[in-house]
Amino acid sequence: MFSSRLLALTPYTPGEQPRDRRYIKLNTNENPFPPAPAVQQVLANFSAEELRLYPDPEALELRRAFAERYGLAQDQVFCGNGSDEVLALIFYSFFDRAFGPVLFPDITYSFYPVFCSFHGLDFTTIPLDDEYRIRITEYIEKASGIEYSGIIFANPNAPTGIALSLAEIEVLLKQVRSDRLVVIDEAYVDFGAESAVSLIERFPNLLIAGTLSKSYALAGLRLGYAFGAAPLIEALHCAKDSFNSYPISRLGQKLGCAALGDPDYFFRQRDRLMAIRESTADELRRREFRVLPSMTNFLFTSPPDGRAVDLFSSLKKKGILVRYFDKARIDNFLRISIGTAEEMKRLIEAIDEG
Ligand SMILES: *Cc1c(COP(=O)(O)O)cnc(C)c1O
Repeated sequence: MFSSRLLALTPYTPGEQPRDRRYIKLNTNENPFPPAPAVQQVLANFSAEELRLYPDPEALELRRAFAERYGLAQDQVFCGNGSDEVLALIFYSFFDRAFGPVLFPDITYSFYPVFCSFHGLDFTTIPLDDEYRIRITEYIEKASGIEYSGIIFANPNAPTGIALSLAEIEVLLKQVRSDRLVVIDEAYVDFGAESAVSLIERFPNLLIAGTLSKSYALAGLRLGYAFGAAPLIEALHCAKDSFNSYPISRLGQKLGCAALGDPDYFFRQRDRLMAIRESTADELRRREFRVLPSMTNFLFTSPPDGRAVDLFSSLKKKGILVRYFDKARIDNFLRISIGTAEEMKRLIEAIDEG
């Protein structure tokens, strides 16, 4: 009854969404602030009658809203039901077993190997350096030595939080072959890093993936995007329409437009979050935690004794959930999402209680 494809899958494990008690939830990088007020307004005015009809399969208004917000043309924008779906369609459309493996870092978003297994692709990982940074030169070297399907990494990377500069991304794009896709997953780019969106005019093999889940505080809505040259976007539509023609609901398209239409609110909340991040990082460093330089809405940090799993358990007992990865090279670290100032104060108190 079960296909061999299914039996070969090892699914992604998301951070837990507990139901047993109320936690201070710092484990899945959700935004602690509410979405833009216009989102609430659209919800209040939405008529159930509208749900009788199918949504626009091309999500034209939503794509126009993205295009306006990011200085693109509508045909350079693709939207999907969360960036996880967008990424799944990217892996399907541009990576091919016959081209060779997909290249990505040994420590990065752990969904990439899952997409590979789902689509029957091989992958080769390239280790981060000793400071947990992506080394562009290693990708250039690897890409010149072997046949490969394409390159993908998150920038800023997860769960390290460290960002590459736009100049480094440009060097990579100039040095690798132009007939293989480079995907920059910018899920966290809004929290202080440089987006590569300005490069898509010059590099027809560049796709940027992103999401409204984190910086727009809309994880529950499920809206993701890809930006790239029109032929790449057209290819993604071909894949989408062979799988699910209506991935974004009527309500979802309207709410997305509302969120994108209020950049002032967006920047205010973002600045607030980044300030909390920096003060929390200072508090942790004062307690001799190692804290990697974060350009995201989380901190990747190692306690002074390196016993991250013990700290994870003691925080959980105190009602604070963070993320621990039982994985070589990072099992002495915790990933802590940035919450409200009060939540972070409680975190530091819990750490001090021991
Ligand atoms: C959160 C995250 C995603 C997925 O975002 P959704 O739009 O919520 O599916 C993709 N990539 C990275 C690196 C992420 O951290």
